[in-house]
Amino acid sequence: MPELPEVETIVRDLSKQILGKKITKIEIRLKKIVRSKLDILIGQKFLDIERRGKYIFIKIQNGDYLVIHLRMTGQLIYEDGKQIIAGGHSERENNFSLPHKHTHFILEFADKSHLYFNDQRQFGYLEIVNLAKKLEYSRRIGIEPLSDEFNLKFFRKIIKSKKNIKAFLLDQKYIAGIGNIYADEILFDAGVLPTRSVDSLNADEVRKIFLTTRKILKKAIKERGTTFNNYVDANGNKGSFIRLLKVYRREGEQCTRCDAVIKKTKVAGRGTRYCELCQK
Ligand SMILES: [Zn+2]
Repeated sequence: MPELPEVETIVRDLSKQILGKKITKIEIRLKKIVRSKLDILIGQKFLDIERRGKYIFIKIQNGDYLVIHLRMTGQLIYEDGKQIIAGGHSERENNFSLPHKHTHFILEFADKSHLYFNDQRQFGYLEIVNLAKKLEYSRRIGIEPLSDEFNLKFFRKIIKSKKNIKAFLLDQKYIAGIGNIYADEILFDAGVLPTRSVDSLNADEVRKIFLTTRKILKKAIKERGTTFNNYVDANGNKGSFIRLLKVYRREGEQCTRCDAVIKKTKVAGRGTRYCELCQK
């Protein structure tokens, strides 16, 4: 599932390609991924693109916003005949002759470049909303972990919940954009077991989790994410944070810090990886 670093990467990439171009055609190939009429897009231009949590908000000339959520397996792919830029979910069996059977929405610009929305499991969606609705979406989501407002004092204030720490990190109403990959990586880096209740954490552990949350997310953006592909060619190069993963999808392998083997369990309903020696 694309998380904050992956969504941030595609937003940064698309901002260089899709802004200011006139939209000439749209094609909805699967109705269920569309939550509102999209016809309004035709003849308009995109003025701005931003990420909020795992949401993508694209400002339309008429003042409305195209909201895109990639959910589990959504992908956005831009193609202009010279290059293909893709972001979101990465699958090895990616088919680059677009559109293909998982392409559910196509947008064509006046210069004949295209933006494709692919989604294998079809949980992602597109919707056009007005500014008020966009702000409402935004209000429902917690703080941006890379914003200046997210400081240790703020973190100490919001971390008072009855949940375990993994469930807390995943809960979008506290902190925006963290999913299963980065929750596991953050807790490994902080040396805290994912099953620990928030109440049981001491001041030093809370400080470590705070610092490492920012550190890991910043690093992941720098590496263009984990599940992210930037298909300048069709080789399917992955976002390079994958080489830096310490626990995620490393169950059964040796810990990078000690002799123990990385374990996998279920916490907060999600597959969770940890090192029982390095994490207390
Ligand atoms: Zn270890």
